[in-house]
Amino acid sequence: MSDPVRETWRACVDSIATAARGRAVRLLAVSKSQPVERVRALAAVGQREFGENYVQEALAKISACADLDLCWHFIGPLQSNKCREVARHFDWLHSLDREKLIPALAQHRPPERPPLNVLLQVNVEAEPGKAGCPPDQVAVLADAVATQPRLRLRGLMAIPVPQPQPEARRAAFAALRRLFDQLRSRHPSMDTLSIGMSDDYPVAIAEGSTLVRLGTALFGSRSPSRDSAPQH
Ligand SMILES: *Cc1c(COP(=O)(O)O)cnc(C)c1O
Repeated sequence: MSDPVRETWRACVDSIATAARGRAVRLLAVSKSQPVERVRALAAVGQREFGENYVQEALAKISACADLDLCWHFIGPLQSNKCREVARHFDWLHSLDREKLIPALAQHRPPERPPLNVLLQVNVEAEPGKAGCPPDQVAVLADAVATQPRLRLRGLMAIPVPQPQPEARRAAFAALRRLFDQLRSRHPSMDTLSIGMSDDYPVAIAEGSTLVRLGTALFGSRSPSRDSAPQH
């Protein structure tokens, strides 16, 4: 019998592998606005890493999936009043973009857990008013994370400006990759370049992505009629 969840997941895994040409590229399933049942269905076919944008929604899912051995990534905009919950409940943070959040993250990381894996979000095209650290300030931010034993600097993340053609994002991906390569000589713990979403991941992989964040490609569209009601 056909299993649509498994088939869609397989198709994504295969298409990532084709683009990666033998390099290891991880698949992060972006489960924002998806109900717990869909997370569990995807976990049942073998997906382990899940990404969430909203802390409250995520905490409900993390606790509902506590019996599964899943790895949770916080990928949404990070506000100072959410640092505590992110540090306590997630394995990875993709969106650190300012130094002032570092002490709260480090302070609230529970001692019994390994250090929180941190990616720095870069506003790679330096768009005004957009989330992410400006490219010329990333080195200072990286140094600040690296001094914290409860945080582990793992790499960079970016969300380039939406473009009608995925090809138009190639230059932004390449610029982030160059920044990543420069910083790695100083910070060898950096091994993760989080770029690529449903509509552009083959281009991102060609430019060096090591982790793609897929929502619609795995789960279908997030139009309101398909979104779940909140869990609580
Ligand atoms: C929603 C989201 C994604 C997934 O987007 P799709 O286009 O559905 O693949 C990836 N990264 C971030 C930061 C997101 O907010």
